[in-house]
Amino acid sequence: MRIISVANQKGGVGKTTTAINLGAALAMRGERVLVIDLDPQGNASTGLGISRDTRAKTVYDLLLSDASANDLARKTDVENLEIIPATMDLSSADAELMSTARRVVHLRNALRLRPADYDYVLIDCPPSLSLLTINSLVASDSVLVPLQAEFFALEGLSQLLLTVREVRETANPDLRVEGIVLTMFDRRNNLCVQVEEDARSNLGELVFETKIPRNVRLSEAPSYAMPVLNYDPTSRGAIAYRALATELRERHAQDKVTEHV
Ligand code: ADP
Ligand code: MG
Repeated sequence: MRIISVANQKGGVGKTTTAINLGAALAMRGERVLVIDLDPQGNASTGLGISRDTRAKTVYDLLLSDASANDLARKTDVENLEIIPATMDLSSADAELMSTARRVVHLRNALRLRPADYDYVLIDCPPSLSLLTINSLVASDSVLVPLQAEFFALEGLSQLLLTVREVRETANPDLRVEGIVLTMFDRRNNLCVQVEEDARSNLGELVFETKIPRNVRLSEAPSYAMPVLNYDPTSRGAIAYRALATELRERHAQDKVTEHV
């Protein structure tokens, strides 16, 4: 099992879209996937069809009670794809975690038993470097960073990579960077092309070959409570997320070490 944080402290860069659709693409290849919604906004839960009024038990219980991942995971309409949902309750978790002695290790402890039921756990992080995100990084084997190709994107990335380094030095020495995936990419936009060039020349192999194009089907799918892979399997968005899943699995097969940051 591999636990991957999908993280970027910036909002609206494609974290949730990536967690949902990469998760679905992996599941459709027969991998058993658990998405953990770690954002109080609960967008991943909604996008995977878990309506708010049915979210009795949530990721809050995983963090702050002794409920197990297996107890909390819910099936989705995609075979092999499960989710632990989130609600607004989670917004108070940060303060509650802060008041505990071992505040950064709650999620890791909750996942420690590493239930053999999953091949991938994808954690959809909130848009901040809060204790929730730190808990996710401490619990993870790696972090996957969606990067929207726009001005200042790389500055934000350095800040995130600094946090990754701090987590490595303090609580999780094995944390790796899974890779950086360019999102909402528009090849007719010069700025996008420039950001891609900069990212590839600075970060080399850390940047996935696969880019996620800006595609309206990706933004429509959540309102139908399904991944784009079901909503419109032949859309450019669906094709891109399937390619990302393939690339991720190839990297793991080659055991590509993404150490240097
Ligand atoms: P985050 O989780 O980082 O805040 P989201 O995944 O929620 O970002 O994406 C922000 C908004 O952009 C959402 O409305 C989403 O549907 C839309 N979006 C994300 N990726 C794409 C894309 N590749 N093409 C078009 N719209 C996208
Ligand atoms: Mg989100």
